Amino acid sequence: MTAHFDPSLVYFVGAGPGDPELITLKGHRLLGQADVVIYAGSLINPALLDYCKAGASCHDSAELSLGQIIDLMASGVAAGKLVVRLQTGDLSLYGSIREQGEELAKLGIGFRSVPGVSSFLGAASELGIEYTVPEVSQSLVITRVAGRTPVPERESLRAFAAHQTSMAIFLSVKEIREVTEQLIEGGYPADTPIAVVYKATWPDCQILRGTLADIAVQVREAGIRKTALILVGAFLGDEYHYSKLYDAGFSHEYRHA
Ligand code: SAH
Repeated sequence: MTAHFDPSLVYFVGAGPGDPELITLKGHRLLGQADVVIYAGSLINPALLDYCKAGASCHDSAELSLGQIIDLMASGVAAGKLVVRLQTGDLSLYGSIREQGEELAKLGIGFRSVPGVSSFLGAASELGIEYTVPEVSQSLVITRVAGRTPVPERESLRAFAAHQTSMAIFLSVKEIREVTEQLIEGGYPADTPIAVVYKATWPDCQILRGTLADIAVQVREAGIRKTALILVGAFLGDEYHYSKLYDAGFSHEYRHA
């Protein structure tokens, strides 16, 4: 049985990283029923709008202020229309749903979130890698370089680099040189492997691989300035240990050695 959507709420839907098949079934069903769709045109794949029914009104939020977005949502809800806000990847990372939610709350309108496949997961699938490699790295730091949006000093790239763990750096490819300098200053050796994944899961995806010492030149030569993730750490290298999970000598709940 599939639940009915409530048109008194606004539905925030994670669009996934680009490939239009990487939206959830719930997100797909919401797009199919929506009367009003407000989508982040600078990042989401416009092919997702093909899932909308004929006559749905679709608005690119790149051209709108927060106030205009909220007005569109509120007038849709007031008219009994199903309103969907479509945002790239997953909503829980650099999603700005909180400020939209708070403005809606002032008008007495609630919202529901439907998760999406974040771009750091799309990038891992493009590379066929795991961020967690036994005995090499068991943690992933998701962060960004400080830009117009400041980052607290205690979580600077330098501070995180001291851990030499796996990192996925969003919103920072334009600053690739500062990024690599700060990572080296913080503690990663200059030969640490790094990958830049541009438009993960899109047909024109591009992957650059190198080290902290040489990636900035490659990025500049490729002309990549946005829609890219910087992945850093020994997980991209050759050192590898088999997981104990499939080790014949390792007992667990379902199997005895
Ligand atoms: N909520 C989104 C992130 C939004 S911030 C998510 O979960 O993925 C926008 C940043 O995400 C971009 O600057 C870029 O760093 C990254 N990004 C989004 N889509 C991407 C893609 N297909 N490939 C690589 N990076 C992507």
